[in-house]
Amino acid sequence: MNLTFNDRIAVVTGAGRGIGKAIAETLAAEGVHVVCVSVNPASCGSAAEAIQANGGKASSLAVDVGDSNAVGEACKQLIEEHGGIDILVNNAGITKDNLLIRMSEEDWQAVIDTNLSSCFYWAKGLVRPMTRKRWGRIINVSSVSGIIGNPGQLNYASAKAGMIAFAKTLAKELATRSITSNVVAPGFIATDMTSSFQEGDVSEQVLAQIPLKRFGDPKDIANMVTYLASEEANYITGQVFTVDGGMTI
Ligand code: NAP
Repeated sequence: MNLTFNDRIAVVTGAGRGIGKAIAETLAAEGVHVVCVSVNPASCGSAAEAIQANGGKASSLAVDVGDSNAVGEACKQLIEEHGGIDILVNNAGITKDNLLIRMSEEDWQAVIDTNLSSCFYWAKGLVRPMTRKRWGRIINVSSVSGIIGNPGQLNYASAKAGMIAFAKTLAKELATRSITSNVVAPGFIATDMTSSFQEGDVSEQVLAQIPLKRFGDPKDIANMVTYLASEEANYITGQVFTVDGGMTI
């Protein structure tokens, strides 16, 4: 993309597959060293290896992003190893869909922990060196569900909406240190997460809601995240960028 990155290092959560993997690859193609985080070591490990095989700089770290202690330890280790992290991409996420009347407290909590509390754990663990350096990027991958709501996704939509307030508040708290905090809100993107929507009648119902008449590609999200991480996006903070093929127009 020919963007400017001054020897930056990034943590991308959920980088083992789908959107996170595309974000990691796109940042790495711009010369950023990417720490690929996912829950399954084989998943983040192979994402990092693929980047290295293409001549990029990458390492991997398997950690459950919803586990406060594990993320705290991971952040300490990363700061010891690298001195600090410049770019944090909070992308890891899960769904456990159900209507309110059938949703268990366990499924509510799991989705809040993995999608929303994780953002707090990572930001808290990594922000101090960013403030000292007076440069940083925090980019949060939310969802159109968090903007317009979606029946059957009460836990997920609530977590994704929370990420927006999280990003805007951090933008205000950290602006004097030149740390920006933004949100990218994808619509339907072709990944494992949406595999059940990509075939048959369901797929037709989904496509009927999308003016551009296709599922997004993970790269469509990665391009926006990478731009927001670059020097060129220096003056953008506290914003929500919807990348959804026109679904929420
Ligand atoms: P995906 O294909 O299901 O991949 C999810 C990634 O998150 C995987 O790498 C997975 O790790 C990681 N992950 C899940 N739980 C984790 C945990 N507890 N700790 C650490 N890593 C964890 O999902 P995706 O479609 O790429 O979605 C990425 C983000 O975009 C999510 O936040 C999702 O909510 C959001 N989003 C997606 C869409 C869409 O249409 N796909 C739309 C709107 C928003 P492993 O690989 O190790 O299993």
